[in-house]
Amino acid sequence: MAAWWDSLSAQAQAAFTAQFGGEAAVLSCAPGRVELLGNHTDYNGGLVMSAAVDRGTVVVARRTQSQDVRVFSVNLNDLDTFCLDAINKTELGAWSRYVRGVCWALTDWCGPLATGFEATIAGNVPLGAGLSSSASLQASLAWCLIQLDLIPGRSRHDFESDQPDLLRMELARVLRRSENEFVGVGSGLLDQFSSLFGRAGHALFLDCDTLVHDRLPLGNPPPAIIVCDSKTSRRLADGMYNQRRAECEKVAATFTDQIPHRGEIRLSWVSLEQLERAWPSLDPIARRRARHVLSENERVRFGVEALKSGDVLAFGRLMSASHVSSRDDFENSSPALDALIEAAQTAPGFLGGKLCGAGWAGCIVNLVRSEQADEFARVVCSAYADSTDTIPEIHICHAADGAFGLDLVRGGP
Ligand code: ADP
Ligand code: MG
Repeated sequence: MAAWWDSLSAQAQAAFTAQFGGEAAVLSCAPGRVELLGNHTDYNGGLVMSAAVDRGTVVVARRTQSQDVRVFSVNLNDLDTFCLDAINKTELGAWSRYVRGVCWALTDWCGPLATGFEATIAGNVPLGAGLSSSASLQASLAWCLIQLDLIPGRSRHDFESDQPDLLRMELARVLRRSENEFVGVGSGLLDQFSSLFGRAGHALFLDCDTLVHDRLPLGNPPPAIIVCDSKTSRRLADGMYNQRRAECEKVAATFTDQIPHRGEIRLSWVSLEQLERAWPSLDPIARRRARHVLSENERVRFGVEALKSGDVLAFGRLMSASHVSSRDDFENSSPALDALIEAAQTAPGFLGGKLCGAGWAGCIVNLVRSEQADEFARVVCSAYADSTDTIPEIHICHAADGAFGLDLVRGGP
């Protein structure tokens, strides 16, 4: 079977020759990701599970003799050029901010990059659909610069022999900083972490507070991870997302006297028992928001145990329970997302499913027996179309490896 990056790699290399002449020296690949459990837990200092998926971004590149950088996106048919001596921001929302942001953050981390470079980018993660094309671009570009040995004091060999992934975690934080401070998007660590730490056939666990993390087998054969896009607009989600964040902060603050802390309290530091004791005195809406976040953390804990004991059915049930909690307590579902879940629940091979990302619009994610993936997709498509008059977009994915590189000159990694 062809690897997900095969045709992207051919596209990127052909575009490289067309844009810059000659051949690229190195190639890197990094996947997108999907959240499996732990919805709205990240900014509450909670627990999340995700998987890197077999859609991603390929970058091919070679060094230049100067400080000049030229990067071409095959997807957007656009070239960005800048000089490493002065990495200026382009306008808000421009794709080049991601590229420049990676260079800026790596420079801030280790000092000026050794030389400039020429690169082409080709990806097959749908942009803005919640599969994190942005982190896959960041991780792939960063890995490419590692392959080119452009990062002072951090050789390609350091990353290859990096045990137990200390440098990968540092890099994830550097790339998050780039997205937060250079691109101007206030996201958590999950996207970059997943794109760098993915493993084929495995789910990923991250404690967003302590950064403790793990890789857990999804079974053999692993189920398909099927993302169904409701094709509903995300615009509403922006305001609601900030509102939920504020609600969570507010309810967390009511526990200030009960929890030892320095600075602000994170909702996830409150236990379910503390919430239960305080229940009658809490605002009726705030306490349901808190119950969602704290029970999500609990579901992640159970999810980790389920996968450790090889019980993917139990894991699927936890995903479905997560959706109910989102719908009823956190109120970040929508009629369209609920219709998709209803369609999925009765489709062949369904093991569990839930809304993912911010909610209110966008996608659901399902675990589905791999041999029934195509049939599942067909049934969900027609049931959702019948109930909403909209054809959903269905992405049949599998858990995949995190960022890696190939040397195009020597061959092999
Ligand atoms: P998501 O990460 O959920 O896909 P984002 O809005 O966070 O959505 O990131 C999408 C942005 O990432 C795009 O608008 C673009 O700026 C950038 N991007 C991702 N992949 C590519 C690519 N292959 N070429 C150019 N820009 C890309
Ligand atoms: Mg993104």
